[in-house]
Amino acid sequence: MSNYLHRLFSGLALCLFAAAPAVAQSTSPAELPHVAVLATGGTIAGTAGSETQTTGYKPGVLTADALLKSVPSLGKIAQVSGEQISNVGSENITNDVLLKLARRVNQLLAQPDIAGIVVTHGTDTLEETAYFLDLVVKSDKPVVVTGSMRPSTAIGADGPSNLLQAVTVAASPQARGRGVMIALNDRIGSARFTTKTNGTTLDTFKGNDAGYLGTLVDELPHFETSVLKHHTTATPFDVSKLDSLPEVDIVYGYQNDGGFMYDAAVAHGAKGIVVAGVGAGSESLLTLPSIKKAISRGVIVVRSSRTGGGFITEDPAYVGLLGDDLNPQKARILLMLALTVTKDPSTIQAMLHEF
Ligand code: ASP
Repeated sequence: MSNYLHRLFSGLALCLFAAAPAVAQSTSPAELPHVAVLATGGTIAGTAGSETQTTGYKPGVLTADALLKSVPSLGKIAQVSGEQISNVGSENITNDVLLKLARRVNQLLAQPDIAGIVVTHGTDTLEETAYFLDLVVKSDKPVVVTGSMRPSTAIGADGPSNLLQAVTVAASPQARGRGVMIALNDRIGSARFTTKTNGTTLDTFKGNDAGYLGTLVDELPHFETSVLKHHTTATPFDVSKLDSLPEVDIVYGYQNDGGFMYDAAVAHGAKGIVVAGVGAGSESLLTLPSIKKAISRGVIVVRSSRTGGGFITEDPAYVGLLGDDLNPQKARILLMLALTVTKDPSTIQAMLHEF
């Protein structure tokens, strides 16, 4: 069956399934689906000195077990088990943590008794981890990444309800085959399109032009759309064979920017560079010589936009591959993985449009 027909039929099947509302039934605990919660740290596991403090607190303090115990209602939705992968603020999530997490997710999803996975994570780089998983998870079972904007000790802490909602989605058969999801603040978003847009408010995660996959109401997921980009089982990336990821750096565009940041990235060993360009990925005359030099040395350069939205299109004034509508941090994740399977610029360009 052609790719197009396959997508059309699976889209129709998803729509029919989504149209049937999930019905909450009283089920004995042993019959509930098993959801594994993998904790990595972040504000959801953070504590502060007072209940009014929502910034400057310590992220990554509570353990996975403490997180689960803090939300007794989880037991009505799923049999949950917790595992600690790391316990750090997400600014400190490294490629090693990504690989460890992804391998564990794939191992757990291969077990017939596991219905889905929740990853708890700091919100700052949550979208990067979610998109990485979206590209390397080899299963149709739901994987849901969540976090919180307020620490566990704050008045109105959002962690408990976000965790409950994430487990609800991970336990839902309607969530299968949708790629990795991000569930926070009553919204279900795709890892591909969801991005953090505000440093402090609860409604920070937005789907931008693509919108959301669905909404959570009274702990029931209502799915409304599907992602057309290929993900999970439809990608060529295999983390089971990887011990490390190639260095890909992001260089920000701004007025009067020189080329020295590109030179430094190449000197440091970058195999790829994502340009967080101004506007639709424009590169300044001051930087172009360095960008061209990087390309001539075999470094793959991808243009993206620092604006937070829009597509990158062909422009003879600029050089580098087109980052589709991926934001710079997601373009970096995809470029790292692409470089694990090919160095060919045209194959990488195709991937940048496909995933
Ligand atoms: N700095 C924190 C982190 O990303 C912020 C958060 O979790 O909301 O881990």
